[in-house]
Amino acid sequence: MSIDTIEIFPWNENFETGLAVVDEQHKILIALLNKLVAHLAYQSDVPTLNAIFDELRQYTVTHFADEEAIWQEHFSDDAWLKWHRHAHHDFIDEVIRLKNEEGIKSLDEVIGDIVKFLTHWLSFHILESDKRMAKVVLALPTGMSLQKAKEVADNEMAGSTRVLIDTVMTMYDKLANNTVRLTREINARKKIEKELKVAKQQADAANRCKSAFLANMSHEIRTPLSAIIGMAHIMKNEGLPPAQEERLNKIDQAGKHLLSVINDVLDLSKIEAEKFHLEQKNISIESLVENVASMLADRIREKDIKLFTCLEKTPRNLLGDSTRLQQAILNFTNNALKYTEQGSITISTQLLNEDESSVLVRFQVQDTGIGIEPGDIPRLFHAFEQADTTVTKKYGGTGLGLAINKKLAGLMGGDVGVESTVGQGSCFWFTARLNKNSKSIEYKQTSQHSLADQLLLEHFAGTRVLIAEDEPINREISTYLLESAGLIVDQAENGEIAVELAKQNDYTLILMDLQMPRLNGFDATHVIRSIPGRENIPILALTANAFDEDRQRCQDAGMNGHITKPVNREFLYATIFKWLNKAGA
Ligand code: ADP
Repeated sequence: MSIDTIEIFPWNENFETGLAVVDEQHKILIALLNKLVAHLAYQSDVPTLNAIFDELRQYTVTHFADEEAIWQEHFSDDAWLKWHRHAHHDFIDEVIRLKNEEGIKSLDEVIGDIVKFLTHWLSFHILESDKRMAKVVLALPTGMSLQKAKEVADNEMAGSTRVLIDTVMTMYDKLANNTVRLTREINARKKIEKELKVAKQQADAANRCKSAFLANMSHEIRTPLSAIIGMAHIMKNEGLPPAQEERLNKIDQAGKHLLSVINDVLDLSKIEAEKFHLEQKNISIESLVENVASMLADRIREKDIKLFTCLEKTPRNLLGDSTRLQQAILNFTNNALKYTEQGSITISTQLLNEDESSVLVRFQVQDTGIGIEPGDIPRLFHAFEQADTTVTKKYGGTGLGLAINKKLAGLMGGDVGVESTVGQGSCFWFTARLNKNSKSIEYKQTSQHSLADQLLLEHFAGTRVLIAEDEPINREISTYLLESAGLIVDQAENGEIAVELAKQNDYTLILMDLQMPRLNGFDATHVIRSIPGRENIPILALTANAFDEDRQRCQDAGMNGHITKPVNREFLYATIFKWLNKAGA
């Protein structure tokens, strides 16, 4: 640690005795005392302090010896010489003894005592005793007797001079101690600030590592997972004996569950790493709720539960992130379905307030399920928390859904909450502030995802597309999915082949994996865009990378869209339908 110097005992001419040798040595001594006090004030570590004490000890031994030799020469065996020698004796031992009192007193008190001792030593010894003896030494060459010289020196140093030294040094003692205390406080605060800064930098770095790690892990896990889910789908469509189909269903469900866990962990970590950006696009609250209802329709029927929706009218021109709003409603509704055996689930919305530029909407999902113990409620919205582990074991889950909803609601300027009665049911809600689009728009309801494959079949059967993907199982799955929707599919197993095929054939659309041998998806896109006539062909990235940065990279590379693996069939069909429609195929 670098020590900023504080001069507690600045040298001034009052210290001067008039004997050059003595004064030079006193200067060094005072510099050493300043150094010692500065190190005490800046809280140097024990070895450093001990080294300074040693330095001081060595120096005083020589200095005291030099000084005593001068006095000896002039005072022979006078009483003054004995007193003086006595004062020198034990000087350092006394400082060290004070320092060692740390076990009994606080360090601050010990430092106070040391500073006090040194101040007194400077005043009584250097300012008074040494000066008085020097006066004698300087008077003797004039022929004055030792006795007379002592009397003169005594007179000069007595009375008002002595009182003045006493008063000034008492004040100085307080001042010096306050300065040391203040320096210690400031230094301690600076140290904490520095530590906090370092800790924050470390935390930020750790967070970046965590999200990079999660991005990689999610990529690694999603790729084989897409093979599992995709293959299960193909095999189910091919028809299997009932027992095998049942087992396959379990593989399919487990794969989808694992995927949802990966997605949840990823979402949460992205929000925590502040890498989560909400879109501001036109939304329709009715469509969001309808989508959720249609996604869960089969499972609701299986359970013989009724689903009601009750939506208060809201302005038509609202902006928001439909994917995330839908995800939050779906999280609540999924839970409601999970924890309700009979009765009903009601999804409702309420317009809480409205001003010129925005509205505050409350989304609420009420069920007649098992309910929650009041004591468990405060924990629920924290990551990995579940109300009752014995109950939740039966239902499964990771305890992330509610934590994500809380974060999402926070990002949307709202809040979350729940009211629940054990045995009667729960009512989970979140609020979101949604901005109004200043340009009035007419919201066109998009086609339901589940209809997209039919739409593809009806409108684009026979359309030729290219899929570039190096991983054979994923290639097979994607090809199967596209062919099921009536498209004609050419396959390329790396970027180079993709470029070659795109030169020879006029594809209506290309699905492009990003990480491929020989030529990756970004570069292949770049080359294809430079082929005459292929400048505007829709190229959609097909990748296991699920981060926003990846999406941005695709966009920057001139791609038109981004489909995350494992491929969600409805999303794949809907996206391809959208781009074929745009391309006017
Ligand atoms: P998960 O459902 O994956 O366990 P969540 O964060 O979605 O995680 O929910 C956390 C916990 O809150 C659940 O484990 C459950 O104990 C409780 N919970 C959530 N929704 C309901 C509900 N509708 N009825 C009863 N308990 C619920």
